[in-house]
Amino acid sequence: MSCESDLHTCPKSSHQEAAEALAAAQSRYVANNLFSKKQHELAVELLPGGNTRTLLHTSPFPLCMKHGKGTFVWDEDGHKYTDFVGELSAGLYGHSHPVIRTAILSTFDETGLSLGSTTTYEARYASLLCQRFKLERVRMTNTGTEANLHALAAARHYTGKKKVVVFNGGYHGACFSFGGGKAAPNTADKGDFVVVQNYGDDEAAAEARRVIEETAREGDLAAVLVEGMQGAGGCLPGSKKFLLAAQEAAKNTGAIFILDEVMTSRLAPHGLGQELGLSPDLVTLGKYLGGGFSFGAFGGRKEIMDSVYDPRVKGSLAHSGTFNNNTMTMCAGFAGLNQVFTEEVCVELNRVGDDLRGRLNAVAKGTRLRFTGRGSLIGLHFRENGTFESQERADLRDLFWFEMLEEGFWITRRGFIAMMLDTPKDELDRFVDAVGRFLERHAGIMMV
Ligand code: PMP
Repeated sequence: MSCESDLHTCPKSSHQEAAEALAAAQSRYVANNLFSKKQHELAVELLPGGNTRTLLHTSPFPLCMKHGKGTFVWDEDGHKYTDFVGELSAGLYGHSHPVIRTAILSTFDETGLSLGSTTTYEARYASLLCQRFKLERVRMTNTGTEANLHALAAARHYTGKKKVVVFNGGYHGACFSFGGGKAAPNTADKGDFVVVQNYGDDEAAAEARRVIEETAREGDLAAVLVEGMQGAGGCLPGSKKFLLAAQEAAKNTGAIFILDEVMTSRLAPHGLGQELGLSPDLVTLGKYLGGGFSFGAFGGRKEIMDSVYDPRVKGSLAHSGTFNNNTMTMCAGFAGLNQVFTEEVCVELNRVGDDLRGRLNAVAKGTRLRFTGRGSLIGLHFRENGTFESQERADLRDLFWFEMLEEGFWITRRGFIAMMLDTPKDELDRFVDAVGRFLERHAGIMMV
């Protein structure tokens, strides 16, 4: 007799069991978060889908946070969580770091907002950014998206060409997204992007070389844009061999090699690129470097930056932006990088992150769960056979999310963890335990 004909005597499939566990977890979520539910119902009447940042959309409704302190957040229904979302890597300093607080208050009291002029603060921060990330020149923007927008404009202006080679799964901002092997419909200058279908390994290195050389032969290649580790793409590190191959092919063809370090600059004292021995023509930055405020920056070789963006150069491009040198960002960003996230602190945080990922993978051994990433950025993946080649199990990832919330851990539903500085060690231990208990509780659907 087949299982289809006798559901009572046959064991449940992993999918069926997961669907039941997920439905139960979702009903508990709804019952435990009535304020968030109500707030969502109000918000959809004002904001499309109830939010102003698509990433935060989630079903049946997102949690509505009330406040944060240190490395914890509290939602409107009164639950406390350890914050592992870490504002998608921008929240490195936590919610109320005393150094950032002092910088904000003293900027407000002594400097003021909206001066509408150049200031010493932007030059001071530029000097620190150049020294830390080995840049000859830098320009500030409001977001990482804008940093990439202007870096691409620089490459196009400098080379007189248009096309840009990018990689499957790459994310370079709100209008530069390349999941599923193609440019998202809202990509700026969509027709100019050529997407390499692989990322990170030897196969990707060979394909990158071929695509870069072919596009250059057609005569219109301006730049190669790549992340050293794909962040939004799932915390998948690119191998050194792959990144060097992409860089070499770009340089041999005269294309500008742009390394997107918006997420990865926090992974090593001088950024991931320096750690891997890369020498990009341009680098883009963002996230935590605004000290908690909106920030982006791009910089690199002075012959490119000066010829494209020095207003004294005839035919140079304008790079405008009302808030590019906003005093709060210039001072909070500087204080954070200068006093808090020093080179030593950076090394230590990433050591703790590597240790945590190692412990999590040890607990998950033999299950469908895998943890990826580098240092303080961790991705989690559920796969049918526990290998990356096998099918993704979004149902298990969702179940994990609902149940980690019940355990008091605020993580992204897509499975991304960005560690904050100073998360108590007890909380990291508690998380490893919670993951272990989750896997045991659902052993039937988690074991490979
Ligand atoms: N590049 C990368 C690698 C990113 O991860 C992000 C943001 N997640 C961006 C660019 C865009 O930065 P922002 O959200 O500040 O525009």
